[in-house]
Amino acid sequence: MYDVIIIGGGPAGLTAAIYARRANLKTLVLEATACGGQIIITPDIENYPAAMHISGLDFASRLESQANELGAEIKFEEVVGINDRGTEKDVQTDSNTYTGKTVIIATGTNARKLGLPGEEELVGHGISYCATCDGTFYRGRAVAVNGGGNTALEDALFLSNIAEKVYLIHRRDQFRGDAEVVEKVKAKENIELLLNSQVTKLNYDNKLNSIEVTNTDGSKRDLEIGCLFIAIGRIPATKAFQNKITMHEDGFIEGEYCHTNVPGIFVAGDCRNKEVRQLVTATSDGAVAVHEVLKLLNR
Ligand code: NAP
Repeated sequence: MYDVIIIGGGPAGLTAAIYARRANLKTLVLEATACGGQIIITPDIENYPAAMHISGLDFASRLESQANELGAEIKFEEVVGINDRGTEKDVQTDSNTYTGKTVIIATGTNARKLGLPGEEELVGHGISYCATCDGTFYRGRAVAVNGGGNTALEDALFLSNIAEKVYLIHRRDQFRGDAEVVEKVKAKENIELLLNSQVTKLNYDNKLNSIEVTNTDGSKRDLEIGCLFIAIGRIPATKAFQNKITMHEDGFIEGEYCHTNVPGIFVAGDCRNKEVRQLVTATSDGAVAVHEVLKLLNR
């Protein structure tokens, strides 16, 4: 029996694990793939207090070591559901069931897909959702980034130092990302902006050859590129908890002070319904969730 089972090993989940272990709670972290969550795709963190210029990968690996050193158990299994039995909660994974007095859901988000034919089978063959992971394979070639948020802007900047040419395709003429990053992008000679534009077709055989881009005025352009990096936002990874936990219609879990509608089940990080989704708010949620767990357990 664990005091707390944390679902998700991203910044929110691992911060929760650190706080839980420092409060001497028997703590299990369940992570489906690799620790770190979305932050691992950030090349350079500039806005986390006192951690100037650290890569997302390094940040995640430090968090994981810290949680490990403090004695959190981390298992790599995908959670498929939760069964609430009042003071005990069963967490089902693809291979086991674990029981905890409390649960913190910190599953974060997954990349939104364009939904174009070929997109799924081309992952690793010209389609990527992670510029820092795959950018280096396209050294000296032309690539494209789709999206207008901070991720797309940062991806374009990162890739401009590797690729010969970067097309940045965005569906509007205004970027959603920070003005400071937009200025850096505009200053790069090898980044070409294609605004008011959507990727409408992937041309491929066994790999991506080119993409069709359609402007809102109806004109079309074919771009020969090595890879299309898709950065059009994220969707919450909360499907396993549907019908058990109250969610917003788009899948984000309602959770004032990290409490869900089920006593003893808490939510932290990007999968929580909130306005500001940043590294600093994810780690903050992890600490708040454990504070609420401790109150419930009378510790
Ligand atoms: P985001 O801010 O939600 O931006 C998604 C972008 O994709 C938007 O520009 C949106 O266009 C576009 N988009 C959405 N659906 C689309 C579709 N079907 N087809 C074409 N374009 C589509 O997502 P994000 O950039 O991944 O950022 C997520 C959060 O993380 C944000 O809060 C961001 O600030 C934060 N973040 C912060 C940092 C940092 O601080 N260093 C780095 C990365 C991310 P519209 O603008 O027209 O809606």
